[in-house]
Amino acid sequence: METGKKPCLAIVVPCYNEAAVLEQTTRHLLAVLENLQEAVSPDSRILYVNDGSADATWDIIERLHAGDRRIAGVNLAHNSGHQNALIAGLSTAIRFADLTVTIDADLQDDETVIADMVRLAGEGNDIVYGVRSSRATDTWFKRTTAQTFYRLMSRLGVKTVYNHADYRLMSRRAVEALLCYEERNLFLRGLVPLLGYNTAKVEYARKERQAGESKYPLTKMLSFAFDGITSFSMSLVHMVFWLGILFLLIALGILVWVIVCIIQQKAITGWSSLILSIWFCSGCVLIGLGTVGEYIGKIYMEVKRRPRYNIKDERL
Ligand code: UDP
Ligand code: MG
Repeated sequence: METGKKPCLAIVVPCYNEAAVLEQTTRHLLAVLENLQEAVSPDSRILYVNDGSADATWDIIERLHAGDRRIAGVNLAHNSGHQNALIAGLSTAIRFADLTVTIDADLQDDETVIADMVRLAGEGNDIVYGVRSSRATDTWFKRTTAQTFYRLMSRLGVKTVYNHADYRLMSRRAVEALLCYEERNLFLRGLVPLLGYNTAKVEYARKERQAGESKYPLTKMLSFAFDGITSFSMSLVHMVFWLGILFLLIALGILVWVIVCIIQQKAITGWSSLILSIWFCSGCVLIGLGTVGEYIGKIYMEVKRRPRYNIKDERL
């Protein structure tokens, strides 16, 4: 971002069958841009990404664009999923914008804190996370599953920001760095913390969906969560290995018990050989699986070709 010049802001909004909320969302986001007139360039825009909606979403975006040049749109050829729609929007946005904010179309995330995000970006932060301070409006089920997920992720050693979804500001260089991660199994809220750079957080209370219904049913949510864990953590494979070790230890325990029984002449014929083979062989199989998994995991990490480092400053 050049100093002295106002940064150009793009508010990237993925939309999948969001015809019901789009007009309302536009009004709210335009109000945000108006309030930011002092801080951002007049070229700042709302960038809708239509993720292959089956309803009138794209027609509405085209109509809004025709009426106001601060509204732009990208139309994906088919439904590619929330995370891919975000990447499509970000790649398009950095062609003209210095700062990008990604926000859901339903405005469950409080759009008024975008002003705080822009201020924090001006203070030298490349990434500003929107963090939910309260989930009072979420259903009990959504709240519990989401929070369990965040806890599980951190238990498994995946760096994520607690209670942060995909509502965040990123500078152009942060987006450029993010685009160097070419993996297909996208889990942006796990990737962004890997970028480094200076980060900040703003808190807000999560609201209810303005209209329409959630595009994340339970099955999609679970597969997203599983994607997040398997893309960032090898803990599950390690667990298989250690389970194998545990089985071998149990086999050892049984062996000791069997020897004691033989000495006391209380052994039941046939039982010891059978039970020992079961625990011993299962342990060996699990250790074998864990070891093979370790190599496959390494291959998996290699084929992602993630950047090894990310330079923040240079004094040459
Ligand atoms: N979305 C998308 N493609 C999809 C599913 C969802 O672009 O395949 C968008 C959707 O339009 C919304 C955002 O992703 O802007 C989050 O979806 P939603 O609000 O339904 O999720 P929830 O808040 O219920 O988790
Ligand atoms: Mg939502």
